[in-house]
Amino acid sequence: MLINDIKAKVNEFVLKNHLNIVEHLDTLSSPPTSFEPMQIYELPLIGIAGAEDSLWNTFKSVDVIGPDHMSPGEWLPGAKSVISYFLPYTERIREANRIEKMTATEWLYGRWEGELFNQALRRVIIELVEGNGGHAMAPALNERFAVKNLRANWSERHAAFVAGLGTFSLSRSMITAKGAAGRFGSVIVDFPLEPTQRSYTEFDEYCIKCMACVRRCPPQAIDKTGKDNERCRVYIAKEKEMYTPRYGCAKCQTKVPCENRIPNNRLR
Ligand code: SF4
Ligand code: SF4
Repeated sequence: MLINDIKAKVNEFVLKNHLNIVEHLDTLSSPPTSFEPMQIYELPLIGIAGAEDSLWNTFKSVDVIGPDHMSPGEWLPGAKSVISYFLPYTERIREANRIEKMTATEWLYGRWEGELFNQALRRVIIELVEGNGGHAMAPALNERFAVKNLRANWSERHAAFVAGLGTFSLSRSMITAKGAAGRFGSVIVDFPLEPTQRSYTEFDEYCIKCMACVRRCPPQAIDKTGKDNERCRVYIAKEKEMYTPRYGCAKCQTKVPCENRIPNNRLR
C-alpha cells in the first residue's frame, strides 16, 4: 500500500465526512445563542516514523516521558511504521479563541467533537490498512492505553516529532508547518513506509521563545523554563466543571506567532 493512497483517503475523510461539521453549537450562556454549523479541521499534515527509530527508546527516560511509554513494536508485534498526522483547526475556531481568558464556544466544540472525529479517523486508517492485507492499531483506541501521573504510555505529540511533523514549544504544544492549534493522531502499521525526513534536530527548534504564550495563560502555568503541567491541569479541570463534558483553554495556542505556522524566523 502506498502512502499516497493513505493520504488521499485521509484527505477525503476530512473534506467529506459529516463528523468534521458541528451542526449545532450553543453558547453556555442563558439563554443560549445558537451558531451557524462549523467545520472543525482543515486538511491535515501527515508524516511517517520508522518503528525502529532510535528516538522511541529515548522516550522511556524519566527525563522525557518515562519507562511506561511503549514503543511501536510493543503495541503491535512486527510494527514497521507509524503514520502520524496533525489536524489543524479552522480559522473560525482559532479566531474565536483569540478572546481573553474564557474558552470560546467554538474551541470547546472543536476540542470535544474534534476528538470524536479524530477517533473515527484513526479507525478509517486501520480499516484501510487491514482491507489491504496489513495489520494496524492505534494506541489511543487500545485498551492498554493509560495515563499515569499526567504521562501517557503513548504520546501523539512525540510520535509526531519522530514523524517529522514539528517540534515542541515553550507551552509544550507542538509547532508544525500549520501551527500548534489542532489535534494529533497516529496509527501503527506492520508494513514499511518511507520515513519522513526531519528538518530539525532540537526538540524545541521551531519555538522562538517570544513569551506570547506566557502572557496568554490565565493561570500563569508557563514561564521561560516551560509549562507547569499540574497548574494547567487544575485550571482546565475547573473549566470542565462549567462546560462538562467539554473543556478547552488552549489560550497558549491562539493569538500567538505559532498559532497556524512556524514563527517567522524559523520559516523554511
Ligand atoms: S508563543 Fe512564542 S514562546 Fe510560546 S510556544 Fe509559540 S513561539 Fe514559543
Ligand atoms: S492550556 Fe491554558 S492553562 Fe494550560 S498552559 Fe495553555 S493557556 Fe495555560
